[in-house]
Amino acid sequence: MNVLNNIQSIRKEFPILNTTVNGNKLIYLDNAATSQTPNCVIDSISNYYKNLNSNIHRGVHTLSQLATEKYEDTRKKFKTHFNAKSSSEIIFTSGTTHSINLVSSGFTNFLNDKDEIIVSQLEHHSNIVPWQMLCEKTGAKMKVIPMNDKGELDLNAFSNILSFKTKIVFINHVSNALGTVNNIQEIIEKSHSVGAAVLIDGAQAVPHFEVDVRKLDVDFYVCSAHKFCGPTGVGILYGKKEWLDKLPAYQGGGEMIDDVTFEKTTYSELPNKFEAGTPNIAGVIASGIALDYINNIGLENIKEYEDYLLSYATEKLLEIDGLKIYGESKNKTSVISFNIKSIHPYDIGSLIDNLGIAVRTGKHCAQPIMDFYKIPGTVRISFCFYNTTDEIDTLVNALKKASIMLSQ
Ligand code: PMP
Repeated sequence: MNVLNNIQSIRKEFPILNTTVNGNKLIYLDNAATSQTPNCVIDSISNYYKNLNSNIHRGVHTLSQLATEKYEDTRKKFKTHFNAKSSSEIIFTSGTTHSINLVSSGFTNFLNDKDEIIVSQLEHHSNIVPWQMLCEKTGAKMKVIPMNDKGELDLNAFSNILSFKTKIVFINHVSNALGTVNNIQEIIEKSHSVGAAVLIDGAQAVPHFEVDVRKLDVDFYVCSAHKFCGPTGVGILYGKKEWLDKLPAYQGGGEMIDDVTFEKTTYSELPNKFEAGTPNIAGVIASGIALDYINNIGLENIKEYEDYLLSYATEKLLEIDGLKIYGESKNKTSVISFNIKSIHPYDIGSLIDNLGIAVRTGKHCAQPIMDFYKIPGTVRISFCFYNTTDEIDTLVNALKKASIMLSQ
């Protein structure tokens, strides 16, 4: 489907895009925080509670069996989408943050104070803090891959800090603050050459392009459904079977057990071992519908259109006097972070919110990046395939006015 030719019919699928905010038609440019949901996803949730609501994996009754079937079919959809070897390598969680915590807490069993782990300067706090907690528990040391002025990782520096002491490397595929697409293939190959595992935070990649976990040979890949038009509260953790078998269970409870006595409990096989308790059944099923929706448009079409929006917006924004863009990597997607002169990003964000334009301002949960540039934060716009060049024009005009007002 050519997105450019179908943009108006695509937009009609998203009821929120026709609402007004502060008396103006909503222009939603905060998709990296969360994307909007199309009718098919909203209907899936409503249909679940109207017709299917029951608990999964435990009932002999028809509703429970139907709900279980849909839930497990959704797992197969993600298996196929990511090209995993088996559905049991797909674990449903509550989000990227939960997925990372599941893996990092499991590594407590594998690390000691002689070990090292590697993060990058480009990370979201979700991919820093859980690993710092791991270091506190085990005594392992965390090393950092530095970035350059363009917002790209220095892979020579990575080679220098990587060693046989390194046990795991955790990097995002795309930076939520700058839009940089990292060369994860090279990072994975180098890490494996010293026997280190790799976790890739794909929260900002999965909505924008294809990901093939087997081609990448990645050990763990994590993302959140709400970033690709799904509901909040659902995450996907892909893990190689060898690793998921080795990792200890994260939470104890129903569903994840094989046999329970007061003396000893044995755990279920994958994937149940990591899905204790009643999951977000309606949300998981609706995430599968969101996945079908973006695949129906086609990720190649989405990428092509969003690249067009990115270059259109970059060019227009740079016409604004005193505007500086942070993150100028050649390989970048769907995010533009900027400041205008020395105006505080929050002031710009609040002013244009009055005009119905939703952008994010602040540190974007990536304080080390802001510290690198020595700035308090940025204004960030981030695209989805339903955004238009008209919306970008309206934004640019609003920014020009805001800049004049706030410079006085
Ligand atoms: N990593 C990245 C790169 C993100 O952009 C986000 C969300 N902003 C997260 C992790 C955390 O995702 P969630 O809040 O859905 O757990």
